[in-house]
Amino acid sequence: MGLKQKKITVIGAGIGGLAVARALAMRGAEVTVLEQADAITEVGAGLQISPNGFCVLDALGLGPAIKECSVQGEAVQLRDYRGGRVVELDLKQLEDRRYYFVHRSDIIGVLADGARDAGVKIRLSQQVKSVQLGENPEVELTNGDCVASDILIGADGLHSVLRRAMNGTSAPFFTRQVAWRTVIPNRFGRTSEAVVHMGPGRHLVSYPLRDGAFLNIVAVQERMDWAEEGWNLRDDPANLRAAFADFGGDVPAMLAAVEDVHLWGLFRHPVAKVWHQGAAAILGDAAHPTLPFLAQGAVMALEDSWVLAESLENADDIMGGLANYQQRRVARATRVINAATGNARKYHLRSAPVRFAAHMALRIGGKIAPSQMMHQFDWLYGMDVTA
Ligand SMILES: Cc1cc2nc3c(=O)[nH]c(=O)nc-3n(C[C@H](O)[C@H](O)[C@H](O)COP(=O)(O)OP(=O)(O)OC[C@H]3O[C@@H](n4cnc5c(N)ncnc54)[C@H](O)[C@@H]3O)c2cc1C
Repeated sequence: MGLKQKKITVIGAGIGGLAVARALAMRGAEVTVLEQADAITEVGAGLQISPNGFCVLDALGLGPAIKECSVQGEAVQLRDYRGGRVVELDLKQLEDRRYYFVHRSDIIGVLADGARDAGVKIRLSQQVKSVQLGENPEVELTNGDCVASDILIGADGLHSVLRRAMNGTSAPFFTRQVAWRTVIPNRFGRTSEAVVHMGPGRHLVSYPLRDGAFLNIVAVQERMDWAEEGWNLRDDPANLRAAFADFGGDVPAMLAAVEDVHLWGLFRHPVAKVWHQGAAAILGDAAHPTLPFLAQGAVMALEDSWVLAESLENADDIMGGLANYQQRRVARATRVINAATGNARKYHLRSAPVRFAAHMALRIGGKIAPSQMMHQFDWLYGMDVTA
């Protein structure tokens, strides 16, 4: 069908929205991104971009710019919450070594520049209120404007308007886990590894950002009381320190350096049943939000973006392209989400004997078959949707 002169509207200037906008514009489409925020700013935090996401950035021609502002990951170390080393996963053993730690605002900046360079119009302060699905989908904005297009893409995240229009309201449930996220100065000599401290009912991940000048921290705690689902809720750093007070190693020093922290509740949402209707489709968190325990949410949004653009370009018609997109993506996204959910259980073992046995098995596995430890991720990191 080709995409030349197709008028495409993308809702949301997050990682998925900007990536798909560039991918479509590079294929000749006229793309407009509608973003509700007044500026493209991001909560200061890091992301791990594994090879299966980085290959999309490279295919979009943005790999070199991302590398310039990222730290290449060389290892993931698992430690006991007291600080003792359990095992190290050597990322250098991956066949594809493109594993990077990047600041969200840096990757968003590169994607936004990349989208504009490809001719995409990014319109800020444009909040979509409702959508009308069909062969020529239309969105209504809160300012009263209406925008019609040949194709509409919802990359509007967790509370997607388009997902709701296609699937009705779903009922996410609180996983009884909350996550704090913060960035601190790296006074710990950390250069290229992610470290996961695993304790009863909690874990804490840290990795370097921006030439190693900073450390990104994500700390997850199981708890009964509800926390709001959203990106912008601030918390008192004292609560974070109290929750991890019994953690050892360099955790107390890292947490002592926290001045500003965001907290949010982790909710599970079902994978959307319907990803496309008429000439509209959803991608990324709008279609399949994931828990952050496999660091794949943004990476899945990147994979979706490439497959959606490619499916549309190669199809005979728009509906066929969108159907092909969902068909290529749904099993993969579901598998990743299930694997991420399972990781919480593995990290948070509460019974001391069970934890001891599990960590011992990891230690032994790491000694006798270190490459096997990495190959268990081949299904995940080894997929190149751009190949
Ligand atoms: C603690 C934590 C750690 C994480 N770590 C990682 C990691 O290491 N690696 C990784 O790959 N992923 C990670 N993720 C997941 C990742 O951040 C998300 O999956 C990813 O940001 C989803 O991208 P998206 O483009 O689909 O949606 P979003 O990034 O949510 O973007 C949606 C955009 O749409 C806009 N929007 C929403 N509604 C409207 C509307 N009505 N009108 C106009 N605009 C609208 C929003 O303002 C926003 O800009 C993590 C998540 C958490 C919670």
